[in-house]
Amino acid sequence: MNTIYDVLIIGGGPAGYTAALYAARAGLSTIIFEKMAVGGQMALTDTIENYPGFEDGIEGFMLGMNMQNQAHKFGAVTKYAEVTSLNLNDKIKTVLTTDEIYYARTIIISTGANPREIGLPNELNYIGKGIHYCAHCDGRFYKNKTVMVIGGGNSAVGDALYLSRLAKKVYLVHRRDTLRATKVYNESLKNATNIEILWDTIAYDTIADERITAAKIRNVKTNEENIVETNAIFVSIGRKPATEIFEGILDIDKNGYIVADETTKTKIPGVFAVGDVRTKILRQVVTAVADGAVAAHFAEEYINECD
Ligand code: NAP
Repeated sequence: MNTIYDVLIIGGGPAGYTAALYAARAGLSTIIFEKMAVGGQMALTDTIENYPGFEDGIEGFMLGMNMQNQAHKFGAVTKYAEVTSLNLNDKIKTVLTTDEIYYARTIIISTGANPREIGLPNELNYIGKGIHYCAHCDGRFYKNKTVMVIGGGNSAVGDALYLSRLAKKVYLVHRRDTLRATKVYNESLKNATNIEILWDTIAYDTIADERITAAKIRNVKTNEENIVETNAIFVSIGRKPATEIFEGILDIDKNGYIVADETTKTKIPGVFAVGDVRTKILRQVVTAVADGAVAAHFAEEYINECD
C-alpha cells in the first residue's frame, strides 16, 4: 500500500518549513521535498537582521536548520529529492521525484526563486571561475582581491558590504543613478571605503583566460567604455521563481510567479503556493513564514471538508 500524505511540501525554505511545522503540529502527516540544502535562499544570507526575535540577527543557515528541527520535532519528514513532475487534477495528487512516486491530499509549493543571470557573453562558461551568484557562498575565495557586484537592490548592496569585509576592493556596478536598496544601507556604504559605486553603468562583456580577469563596462549616459580589472563578478540582479514544473498546470504571472492571493490558494483546490514563489508585494523571510502558516491552515480545512 502506498502512503498517502495529508500534506506534501515542495521546497525546504522558511515558507516550506513553517507550513510543515503548522501541519505536523496539527496532526497531519507531512513530508517535505528539498532538492539540495535546507533554508532556501535564506541559507545563503550571512546575517538576517530583520527577522523578529533575534536581537543581534541570526545566520540564515542556522535559522533554516532551526526551522527544520522544529518541524521534525512535530513529526514532519524531510526527503532530499527533486520533484520532476506532478498530477494535481485528482483528489489524491501524485508527485514524481527523482527516486519515487508520492501521493498526497494537499500540496504546498514553496520552491522559492533562484538567482537571475545577466546575459554576459560567456557568463555560463565562467560560473565558478569568476562569475558568481552568491557572495556569501563564494566570497571567501576573493580574500584581498578585487571583485565586482552588479545590481542596485538590497541583495547587491548587502553583497557588496559583505564582500568589502573580505576583498581589497569592491566595485558596485548599477545601471541607474539611484539605488533600489533601502536607505538603511547608506551609512554602511559610506563607511565602506573600499566600495566604489559605478553609477549609470552596465557590464557588457568580460575578459578572461582560465578565469575572469576584467569586465568591460559602459556608462549608459555618456556611452564611455572602460575596462575594469576584477577577479570576480557577482551578479546580484534579482531572482527568477522556480516554477518550471508548474507551467501549464497552475496560473503563472508575467514575471513567472504562481498566482495565489493572501490565502495562498492556487486555482487548484488543495494546492497552495507560499513564500517567494507566490505573487506578492514583499518577499522576506517574515512574509514567507506567514504564508506557510496560512497554507497549513487552509490545507487542514480542505482535508476536513473532503472527509
Ligand atoms: P531587486 O530588489 O529586484 O533588485 C534587482 C536590482 O538589479 C535592481 O537594482 C535592478 O536595477 C538590477 N537589475 C535587474 N536586471 C538588471 C540587468 N539586466 N542589468 C543590470 N541591473 C539589473 O532584487 P534583490 O536585490 O535580489 O531583492 C529581491 C527581494 O528581496 C526584494 O524585495 C528585496 O527587498 C528583498 N531582500 C531583502 C533583504 C533584506 O531586507 N535584508 C536582502 C535582500 C533582498 P533597477 O534598480 O534599475 O531596476
